[in-house]
Amino acid sequence: MTTPTVTERGRLTALRAAWLFDGSGSALIPDPLVVIDGGTIVAVGSGAPAPDGADVVDLGGAALLPGLVDTHVHLAFDASADPVAALAARSGEETLEAMTRAGQAALAGGVTTVRDLGDRDYLSLGLRGRPGLPTIVAAGPPVTTPAGHCHYLGGVAEPTEAGVRAAVREHVERGVEVIKIMASGGTLTPGTYQHLPQFTLELLRAAVDEAHRHGLQVTAHAHAVAAIADGVAAGVNGLEHVSFWTEDSVNAPAELIQLIADRRTIVGATVGMVPVPGLAPPPAVLARIPLMMANMRRMYEAGALIVAGSDAGIGPVKPHDVVRHAPAMLRDIGIGQAEALRMITSAAAGVIGLGHRKGRIAHGFDADILAVDGDPITHPDALHRIRAVYARGTAAVSPARVGR
Ligand SMILES: [Zn+2]
Repeated sequence: MTTPTVTERGRLTALRAAWLFDGSGSALIPDPLVVIDGGTIVAVGSGAPAPDGADVVDLGGAALLPGLVDTHVHLAFDASADPVAALAARSGEETLEAMTRAGQAALAGGVTTVRDLGDRDYLSLGLRGRPGLPTIVAAGPPVTTPAGHCHYLGGVAEPTEAGVRAAVREHVERGVEVIKIMASGGTLTPGTYQHLPQFTLELLRAAVDEAHRHGLQVTAHAHAVAAIADGVAAGVNGLEHVSFWTEDSVNAPAELIQLIADRRTIVGATVGMVPVPGLAPPPAVLARIPLMMANMRRMYEAGALIVAGSDAGIGPVKPHDVVRHAPAMLRDIGIGQAEALRMITSAAAGVIGLGHRKGRIAHGFDADILAVDGDPITHPDALHRIRAVYARGTAAVSPARVGR
């Protein structure tokens, strides 16, 4: 470890703990020292002395890990029983307040970066960079068809090539960082169907081409088998959900699974659920869950690039810090816990375009750090015993308040 020098920006902070998961490795590093200068990690060592003059924060027996990265959230949905109705009843100003509370809840739960894959009227863009909130990567309203899935969020495109290109261009002009397109229907929108595609292959191609021309990635909400196949054929960068939904079950063709893996199409696995007593998923979902988990396992074995995206906000089982529950669910799919942790830290940061400064505890990375009680690789439950959260170097959950 190099010895950092104190800059004129102020004193350094040095975090001490018992263990460190750095976001990219497979094992815990003992006796870590993480030195923070402002919002940036300037040194990481093991068994090293703190630099002279640094404020030392001793987290005792805690384990440090990178702040969590959720690749799929909806800050505008409030995790109530009917988030669509709740949103419809709110003015723009009230929605911004609710979205701020959602972001604060995420941060308090250790989620320091979120990719919002569907807000209303581009409201999430105005929250980017606000202190006290996670770092936000924003898609704005999802591009959808007239009366299509989540049409009420404001992202309706005329279902023509010119219409789809115009919708993508409007998103570009508003300053989004990624295009989300609704390639199939979804449960939140009556009158749309998860087993049916919403766009033709040609229109998906036009959307992808227009987004790529402007340097933006595209990720497609895709339940229906045809929507998944068309998305891959159109060259989307990512797929969300990937449930291979059919009218009465699920059906994942082996060739399509292999194509997803070979093309390196990012699979956003919708994992992470808070147990809520008395609340079960709808029967249509419940019956398919074991099959969807098995297909996720098949994609994993085929070598697909999988990250966790919780869909936080869409119901009571999905509060805004729910991604902490993803590793337990990934374990049930058969994914090892170190890899599961990478799927909510470094790998997640990589797929949302922030792999150079998020998701790892390493020199030069943003000082987004979560301290938990226990070993998060052996015991995923440790992620729920939060001792401290730092976002860009500022304590969002302070060790003093949490206690020892
Ligand atoms: Zn979603």
